[in-house]
Amino acid sequence: MKRQPESLSEKVYALAFGAHPDDVELACGATLLQIMNEGLQVAVCDLTKGEMGTLGTPETRKSEAETASVIMGYHSRMTLDLGDAKLFYTEDNLAEIIRCIRHYRPEVVFANPPDERHPDHLKASKLVTDAYYYSGLQRISTMMNGTAQEPFRPQHLLYYIQFKHLEPDLIVDVSDTFSASRKGILAFSSQFYQEGVTQEPKTLIKRKEFLTGLEARARYFGEQIGVMYGEGFLHPGPMAIKSFRTAFPGF
Ligand SMILES: [Zn+2]
Repeated sequence: MKRQPESLSEKVYALAFGAHPDDVELACGATLLQIMNEGLQVAVCDLTKGEMGTLGTPETRKSEAETASVIMGYHSRMTLDLGDAKLFYTEDNLAEIIRCIRHYRPEVVFANPPDERHPDHLKASKLVTDAYYYSGLQRISTMMNGTAQEPFRPQHLLYYIQFKHLEPDLIVDVSDTFSASRKGILAFSSQFYQEGVTQEPKTLIKRKEFLTGLEARARYFGEQIGVMYGEGFLHPGPMAIKSFRTAFPGF
């Protein structure tokens, strides 16, 4: 796993954005493992360092994100510094995200959901949605390591589901990867409940019940499609079906 990109571009199949380090692992980690199990590469981009979080320091969160990336097996992880709790919709912030999309040239982009409790998640969702579109425009120029980037628009955009309950448009069967994804989540040890460790200060996600709640939701989504665990996603607009047999397999 590379910490920060060195080359001009490195194509991956999926690029998952999160407002904070751990957003991606919590909301769609099992799906990313599923994608990698199919032999496809995944990169993650955290828009902020999570420096305003109640728990952990920017340094601990950085090293936790690196550990999580190794455990998960990502191709690479890019950490932008767009300002935790100051993640504003600016031309500069938009350009940073466009730069990241043009660097990784993914087919699928994952983003924070458009309806959420944390204001940073909402702002990240809007920024990534717009950058997803603008990254394909010829006349928006961006540079990476001193070289002009080629325009590139990914094929698909999916929103994962976080704190708020949203009705998913699609549910991924993650029965095979759900337990492994928990290891990626627990790499963010400053944020979550740890057996035998002082649990102060208390936050919503530090409670032991939080992780149980995540599992309950994955079971609930799984139940909706007749499997053990599922992760739900929102899809902007109708989904195209190119192979009927693949979309509707038999038993
Ligand atoms: Zn977050």
